[in-house]
Amino acid sequence: MPHSPLPTRESLREVRYDIRGELSRRARELEGQGRHLIRLNIGNPGAFGFRAPEHLQAAIAGNVHESDPYTHQQGLPLAREAIAEFHRRRGTPNATAERVFVGNGVSELIDISLRALLNPGEEVLLPSPDYPLWSAATILNQGRPVYYRCAPENGFLPDPEQIEKLITPRTRVLVVINPNNPTGANYPRALLEKLVAIAAKHKLLLMADEIYDGILYDEAVFTPLAPLAGDVPCLSFGGLSKVWRACGWRVGWAVLSGDPVRVGDYHHAMDLLSALRLCANVPAQFAVPAALTGPETIRELTGPGGRLHESRRAIIDCCAASEHLDLVAPSGALYAFPRVVGDAAVGFDDQAFALELLETEDVLVVPGSGFNVPDSRHFRVTLLPDAALIREVFARIERALGRHAAQ
Ligand code: PLP
Repeated sequence: MPHSPLPTRESLREVRYDIRGELSRRARELEGQGRHLIRLNIGNPGAFGFRAPEHLQAAIAGNVHESDPYTHQQGLPLAREAIAEFHRRRGTPNATAERVFVGNGVSELIDISLRALLNPGEEVLLPSPDYPLWSAATILNQGRPVYYRCAPENGFLPDPEQIEKLITPRTRVLVVINPNNPTGANYPRALLEKLVAIAAKHKLLLMADEIYDGILYDEAVFTPLAPLAGDVPCLSFGGLSKVWRACGWRVGWAVLSGDPVRVGDYHHAMDLLSALRLCANVPAQFAVPAALTGPETIRELTGPGGRLHESRRAIIDCCAASEHLDLVAPSGALYAFPRVVGDAAVGFDDQAFALELLETEDVLVVPGSGFNVPDSRHFRVTLLPDAALIREVFARIERALGRHAAQ
């Protein structure tokens, strides 16, 4: 008798992660056939020749012999103290080591933080476009994503009035991703203050995904959310993956701020869930004090003449020279999110285009719809390759879009 396939969790049908989705599978197949692809789908600094600063590597190597035991579920005390101190310096209220949770990347903490909060059917306000793990973790923890639009016409910034209209008695969280993946938007202070006011009025928990907090271009200045939030409960996420180019080490953190009485039960819930997974990867936690007290090496890459600075410039120039592409220049993070316009946009489908680009031009991008955006004319590229490779990629994209425009 034939065996029927093992059924899997039904809610997974609503979950997508196109950054490593079907196109990546096809890319591996093509590489298996000997094709040389340019992969712009993942914000993986190590894959583009970036390395974690040497003093961070030394901090791990020098402490490997201390790394055998499990640590406290919230993390190694010396790492948590360094994170708390880092947050105190930027003005996060009540930032003590007790309020710090270290995880295997921010990814794990996003899941834990939503699991600790949501009851079935409760709503999470997410940006559209979003970093899709936020939608996935909401759905898998039985919540419901409700999207507030961050449209290119508005510089990819949220509209506080629209956010407020989306709030219902079931809304629990307002998620803010700043600087933003995939758009590169950097939110101004006045806007963040309005978001805090909304959270205060409607008794929402703020979740601030600030993993790109040190990656800013030109005159852009990052404003952390927690210092503005004051007593309003806020969970701020950061980590070593991007600013310190160490995404393979899997170190992220979340800092819980706000009125101690209001966040007490939530703190216990986070602690319990942290305990169930025992602890995060220990050796890599030794790099945290070195990272947070050492030189800000990222500025050499994002400042004038730096590799990321030049790559971003190249993307901006390529899009400006194209009659097929519109771009809101990214102010921060590691991505650009151009939109196809003009003749090439007629009948354009981002999924079909991304596949065609892979098959015909050996370039792997992520279709914009993978970021839960109601507009199928975008795609995301990472600006991690050097400027020469960026120009090569955009020449190929231009060729493919030219074929569309001519159709
Ligand atoms: N949040 C955002 C906005 C991201 O872009 C990423 C990774 O790309 C993550 C969280 C997860 O980072 P990690 O798990 O490596 O700390």
